[in-house]
Amino acid sequence: MNEKTCRVCGTPFKGRANRLYCSPACKWQAFAQRHRRNGVDAHPLPVVACGQCGQDFQPKNSRAHFCSNRCRQAAYRARRLEWQRRTLGRRPTTKGK
Ligand SMILES: [Zn+2]
Ligand SMILES: [Zn+2]
Repeated sequence: MNEKTCRVCGTPFKGRANRLYCSPACKWQAFAQRHRRNGVDAHPLPVVACGQCGQDFQPKNSRAHFCSNRCRQAAYRARRLEWQRRTLGRRPTTKGK
């Protein structure tokens, strides 16, 4: 363990040789700064409309279709309900009532 100095805030800290920052917060800040310097947005994906509420949002990855967990869950529930309705409707019980 070596005495090191945080590259972001300058706070001395002890850590492994490969550690450059005193805390996850400083690590994140350094990451964000690097992206800004490169002229790359931290969220380079285009804004898309939420599949549930229709609101524009910035997806965190290319497979995100919903603006929030709530919308994702609501869409999932709606899809499951739909599926249940369809399968139950298509296969009416033949054994009478
Ligand atoms: Zn720091
Ligand atoms: Zn939404």
